[in-house]
This record gives sequence, C-alpha cells and structure tokens, in this order.
Amino acid sequence: MEFEKFRTMQFPRDIYVGHGVLSQIKNIVKRNIIDGSVVIITGENTIKLAGNEVSIHLTDASIDNHLIITGAATYDNLETCLNQSKEYKAGLMVGVGGGSKIDIAKKIAFLLDIPFVSVPTTPSHDGIASPRASIKKNGWSVSEQAAMPVSIIADTSVMVKVPFRYLAAGAADVISNETAILDWKLANRIKGEEFSSSAAAIAEYAAKELIEKAHLILPNVEESVWLVVKQILASGTSMAIASSSRPASGSEHLIAHNLENLSPGKAIHGEQCAIGSVVSMFLHGGDWKSLISTYSKFGLSIRARDYGISDEVMIQAVRSAHKIRKERFTILGEVDLSREAAYNALSITGIL
Ligand SMILES: [Zn+2]
Repeated sequence: MEFEKFRTMQFPRDIYVGHGVLSQIKNIVKRNIIDGSVVIITGENTIKLAGNEVSIHLTDASIDNHLIITGAATYDNLETCLNQSKEYKAGLMVGVGGGSKIDIAKKIAFLLDIPFVSVPTTPSHDGIASPRASIKKNGWSVSEQAAMPVSIIADTSVMVKVPFRYLAAGAADVISNETAILDWKLANRIKGEEFSSSAAAIAEYAAKELIEKAHLILPNVEESVWLVVKQILASGTSMAIASSSRPASGSEHLIAHNLENLSPGKAIHGEQCAIGSVVSMFLHGGDWKSLISTYSKFGLSIRARDYGISDEVMIQAVRSAHKIRKERFTILGEVDLSREAAYNALSITGIL
C-alpha cells in the first residue's frame, strides 16, 4: 500500500504576550496586510479597554482603519459586521474583545479570506488562539470553522483590568484539557480516531502547569494573567498541531456547550468547562476530587446552584451533551446517559 497520509497545520506567525504589547499592532498589520483597510471589531466596553488604543496606534502609523462596535456573536450581528467590513474594503480583520468580538472578526476573516489578528481583552478561554468561532443562531450556539489568527496580541496590562472571574474561568478552560485528552485516547481506542501524542503532550503540559501553580492565580496580579495566558496559548498550539480542537475539547466541552444552550448566560464558558470536567473525570473513573480542589484554590465553584443553574437543567445538560457534536466521540457515548447515571455523577461530586 502506498503512503497516503497528510496533515495540515496552521499556526499564528507572531504571538505577543505580556505588558504593553498592544503597540505592536502597527508592525503586525504592516507585515500581514496586502491591500484594503483594517477593520476592528470591538464592543461597547472593550473599545475603552483596548479598541480605541488599537485604532490610535494604526492611525499614528498612517494605516487606514475603521472601528465597528457590535454585541453578542449572533448571526444577525455577524451579517451586519460582514456587510460593513465589505463596504470598508477590509483587507485585515482585528478582533478586540472577550469572546464574541473575536468570534465575529475571525468568522468574517474566514469568509472574506483575509488575515485575522486576535487582540483578547479577557483571559477567559482558549478561543483567542483557535480557528473555531461560536456563533448563535436562534439562541443556539454553534461551533464553526473560522480563520486561525495570523497574530495574537495578548496584553497583560489590559487583561488584568477585567474581573477575576474571567481569569479563573480561563485557567479552568485549560485545566479541563485533562478530560479532553482522556476522551481523545478513548476515541482512539474505540473508534480508531487518529491521535497525536505531541499535541496531547502540549495540551496536558498546559493543564499540569496551571494545576501545579493554581495557588498563584490571584486577583489584580498581572503576573497571574501572564501565567494563565501563556497556557491558553500553549493550548492553542496543541489544537494547531492536531488541526482540531480535540486536545482541548472533549466531553467537558460538550457539557459546557449544552449547559450554555439550556441555561444561557448563567455561568461563563470556563466555569461550565470546570463543571463538565468534574463530571467527565468521574465517568472516566479518574481523580475528580483533585480537580475540584485545584479549582477551589482560585475560588472557582463547581456547584450548579452557585450559578443559578437548576438541578433539572444540570441533569439534562449532562444527559444530552453527546448530541452537541455527534462526530466527537467521548465518555458520554452515543446515547443519552440514563437519568440515574447523570444524577449519581452530579450528586456524588457535589455539583448538585
Ligand atoms: Zn473552551
């Protein structure tokens, strides 16, 4: 048999992380833009945090740029921003914000086939470094293919200003790689799904670093942001190597996305992942207690009621999570978990 394997890997070419790196935007744009203008997608709050500054840096360097302020990552907002970007003859998209602005910008860059630069203002999840966007349609969020950032500018002096809850959630999103890898290994054994040990090793390293240093994740400390963001970026690298979100997204993410759909806006993504990872670790027969104690070191609760999530919704979120993304085989299997099994996993771990 002839050798037929191939794989594509897309990486960001420049990653800037640390204090005051926002000013690098002009150099990055100059290196990546071919023609057209720069369109900056940002929000009402994030424009003050970093959006305006990005625009000023570009204007100072005589780079034609336009700011678009938008809201949640819905199809309506995406379409409006897409049309405006076309009017501005966008040649490069910049997303300045938490999750939704980056999702909209990376999706537009993908649709227009132009470079995308990620400027996260919160360290709350690993979407800042991934080629996936979650866009809401009729209140239901769907994970879609989008552009991989050509560059990421993660300014810790900006990110330290957001509430600590976001940093804790970002750390949990990375720590939950632990269960994502268990699921990936399981899919490899059961389904013969291709497994990349190098990608898994990096994803696991990122999680282990934060587990070991969980006590150093503290409010109002820029170095804590630095610690977490570096591992968010490492997680992104693992996804780039695998050309898939597999190393950082397993059953815990299916539960997290299902929870967001069934009970939107209660907990933020990383918190939902933390809850999901405890359920998943329990189902894998792993050490779920140490996961909970790690999360508690930086004040993250895994109790559903602390987020205003009802027992019934939580049970449903676990039972039907496998339907979120059917091709992603995990410990949750291919049929609804029985009510009893879901209830046991949730009550024994203290989530209910
Ligand atoms: Zn995530």
